[in-house]
Amino acid sequence: MSLSTMAAPPIRFPARRSQSQKTPCAEWCGFVELYRLAAKSFSDAVEALPYSPGSEFDQAWQRAERARKNLDEARSALMRHEYTHDCSTRTEAS
Ligand SMILES: [Zn+2]
Repeated sequence: MSLSTMAAPPIRFPARRSQSQKTPCAEWCGFVELYRLAAKSFSDAVEALPYSPGSEFDQAWQRAERARKNLDEARSALMRHEYTHDCSTRTEAS
């Protein structure tokens, strides 16, 4: 599976009602932090993949797969929160 097929289609966010900066809630910040950490561990896990096949590769691959699923879940949680809570400001909207 290539990276391009893994990427979810862009999600349309509701247009902002004003130009004023909203203060994102603490929960949103927490989700962003989780997403950052998950992305970092995924990156680290992928970097640790050895260049030769074998049991070492298999173990590193399993770690990378777990990290990828964590990253997916962290991303979904952040998206879900933005959908349902409308507390965050997205500069690319509208
Ligand atoms: Zn929120």
